[in-house]
Formats: sequence, structure tokens, C-alpha cells
Amino acid sequence: MPAICQPASDDLFARARRLIPGGVNSPVRAFRSVGGAPFFVKAAYGATLTTADDTELIDFVCTWGPAIHGHNHPAIRDAIALALEHGTSFGIPNPYEVEMAELIVKFFPSIEKVRMCNSGTEATMTAIRLARGCTRRDKIIKFAGCYHGHSDSLLVSAGSGALTHGHPDSAGVPAAFARETIVLPYNDTAALDDAFAANPGQIAGVIVEPYCGNVGFIIPDPGYLAHLRAVTARHGALLIFDEVMTGFRLARGGVQELEGITPDLTTLGKIIGGGLPVGAVGGRADIMDQLAPDGPVYQAGTLSGNPLAMAAGIAALKLLDEENPYARLDALAGQLRSALLSTARAKGLPIQVPQRGSMFSVFFTDKPVRDLASALASDAARYAKFFHACLHAGVYLAPSAYETAFLSTAHEGVHLTRASEIMCNALKTF
Ligand code: PMP
Repeated sequence: MPAICQPASDDLFARARRLIPGGVNSPVRAFRSVGGAPFFVKAAYGATLTTADDTELIDFVCTWGPAIHGHNHPAIRDAIALALEHGTSFGIPNPYEVEMAELIVKFFPSIEKVRMCNSGTEATMTAIRLARGCTRRDKIIKFAGCYHGHSDSLLVSAGSGALTHGHPDSAGVPAAFARETIVLPYNDTAALDDAFAANPGQIAGVIVEPYCGNVGFIIPDPGYLAHLRAVTARHGALLIFDEVMTGFRLARGGVQELEGITPDLTTLGKIIGGGLPVGAVGGRADIMDQLAPDGPVYQAGTLSGNPLAMAAGIAALKLLDEENPYARLDALAGQLRSALLSTARAKGLPIQVPQRGSMFSVFFTDKPVRDLASALASDAARYAKFFHACLHAGVYLAPSAYETAFLSTAHEGVHLTRASEIMCNALKTF
């Protein structure tokens, strides 16, 4: 396939590479695992991106999840513009922070109190510190392939860019830190039981992406999340649901609403910032009260509760409340999934397309994907070929076999018909 003609992007990338490590400010953007060079985006509206070379792409990355209303939604833009009239940062409480907390607590019944921060990484880092501070224990359990941001304790067997770039365990994380993180296979109840038995009274908490979105998309086996809840409760460890990706994306109350599970702590990000940088950690009041200034667990942020980010996030959450688009998004993504599966079946091409609501991924394998090992057993080279065929024809999927695709409410029939045609045609070329 001829390389896409993108002189403006290529020129920007050449300049970027001289000054920015890898030419990008977040590794997956570099296209290393799929090959080729990234395009630069100069504008994004609704379901589409416009590249620096004026190519229009139907976007299924949605800025890695936040853009559930599509890009540059007028209500979010207006909310930011209104907030901007009054200043960009105050460093003292502002009214938006209270409204944001009220909205989050309203939709997440497990959250009684919430602290805003600036990224998902900060949220999970704080949740881990809280779990350790509250239980006076040091060890945490995470699951292989789950990605919880890039703090030291959590960059162990991580997914997303860390996995894509072959650094699931990062250089620079002291072995002594990594030793406090027990990594288990996802969806394996026996491994969890064994880990608790082997470390009595030592495990502060278990952090999990309740539906994994950073290793491709993986849905837990029935009963798995309930098992996590029961075992953590029995052993006095906290259960932390990392819903940075799934919060407000699959339901207003995240996976915990869908599955009827009550974690002790929840981390949020992405959608609650309406496209501006944000994160949040929330949960039971008695746990959250351990945070400074009321408690001994320290956490802070110069820009936390930033008025522009709060205004954007509040607008995004209110839209979700008004529109309740979840059933429609699920139906649309389901149609896309069916088209891909039937095209692949007709070709005799083994693929898996796990999907819930507006999240899905395409694995080139004949076996169901239920953990990191089965995700890694899929054919990543085939995914790269699929990715480029789609990109060439105008559909932008995540530039890695180990990421999730997202739909937004701006993906209308016309986008989905066209995208489905392009993705199915790409499968037909195999
Ligand atoms: N947790 C999950 C589940 C995520 O998907 C991500 C980012 N993709 C993070 C945490 C980290 O969030 P951020 O990139 O905002 O630091």
C-alpha cells in the first residue's frame, strides 16, 4: 500500500523529533507498533479529525476516550468560553468544584466524597496511597495488562503504551517499589485467592480496570468482579475500581453501575474533564477523610479543580445526563461489531471483537481474549496491516493492537456506514 501523502505532518514530525523525545508527548502517538509516522491534527469536530494535510478521518480514538460527545461539542465549548471570561486558575476554591463533586457523587453511589486532580495517573497514585495509608499495609495487587497511569507502583506489567512499546515494567522504577506490587493474571480467581493466602495481613488494596481497556478491550468473566469484592472485603483490603476510561462511558455510574458492585475507591478521569486535563479519586467518606487536610495521607495540586476543566467536565456530564446515550451507542457499536464478524467469517479470518457500549477492539485470533496472555497471542502484525488499510481509507483506529476503540454520540449513521464499509473492506484484503 502506498504511504499516505502527508508532507505537512511529516515536516512537523521531523521538527518534533529534534526537540521532543520520540517526537511525541505520549508514546503510543508515535505509531511505533503499527509502523509509519503519525499524522498531526489541526482541528477536530464531531466524529472527525482534520490532519495538518487536510485529510479528514473518522475518529475511533476519541482522544483516548474523553470525547464521548465527539470533538468540540458546542455545549462544552460554550461552557469553557463562559468560564474563561472570569479567569483561568485561582488557586483557591471555585464554585465549579462543588458542582462537579455533586455530579460525581450523584451518579456514582459508591462515591461519598471526591477529590479532583489533573490526570488519571494522579488519581490512581492517590488511590493507592490512600489504600496504604488507611490499612497501614504496603502491598497492592494489580492485574497484568491493566494500565493505571505511570506512577511507580503501577508501572509493573502495565498495559497501553507501556505494553505497546515493550516496557510493561519501566526502567527507573526501584525494584523495592515493584516488589510491593503483586501482579496477577486478570480473570483468574484462584490466583487472587492464592495471593491473599500467601500475603496474610499485608495487602492494602486491589486495583483493577473493571473492564480492561488498555490491553485491547477485555470483559471480565461473570462473577469475577463479585469475587474481587468478596475477597478484598474478607481480608480487609480496599477494592479500587479504576474507571478512568469506563466512568461515564459505559453508564453514568460506570462499570460499577452495570455490574452492581460497590468498590471502596474509584478513580475517574477522561470524560469528567470534557477534553481538558482532569482526574478524580472518590469513595467512602471514612476513607476519603484520610486525605489532607483532614487526614494524614498527603495529596495536592496547583491546578486541581481548575475552573476551565471543571466547566468543561460539568457540561459533558450534564449532556450525558440529559441524553442518556448509552443504549444507542451500544446498539451502534454492536452493529459495527456484527459487520466485522460476519465479514471475517466469510473470509475464514479468525477475529474477536469484544464490545460493550461504545467500547470495542479487534483482536486477530481464533481464541477468546480474557487476559494479557491471550491478548499477546493475537496477531499484532495483522492488526498493524488492518490499521493502515483503515487509515488509508479514512478511518483512524488506535495505533496499537492493545488499545480500545471508542464511539461518540457524534458518530452518526453516515459515519458508521462509511466506517463499517472501510473496516470490512480492510478485512477482505487479508
Ligand atoms: N487508568 C486508566 C484505566 C487509563 O486508561 C488511563 C489512561 N489511558 C489512566 C489510568 C491514566 O490516565 P492519564 O493518562 O490521564 O494519566
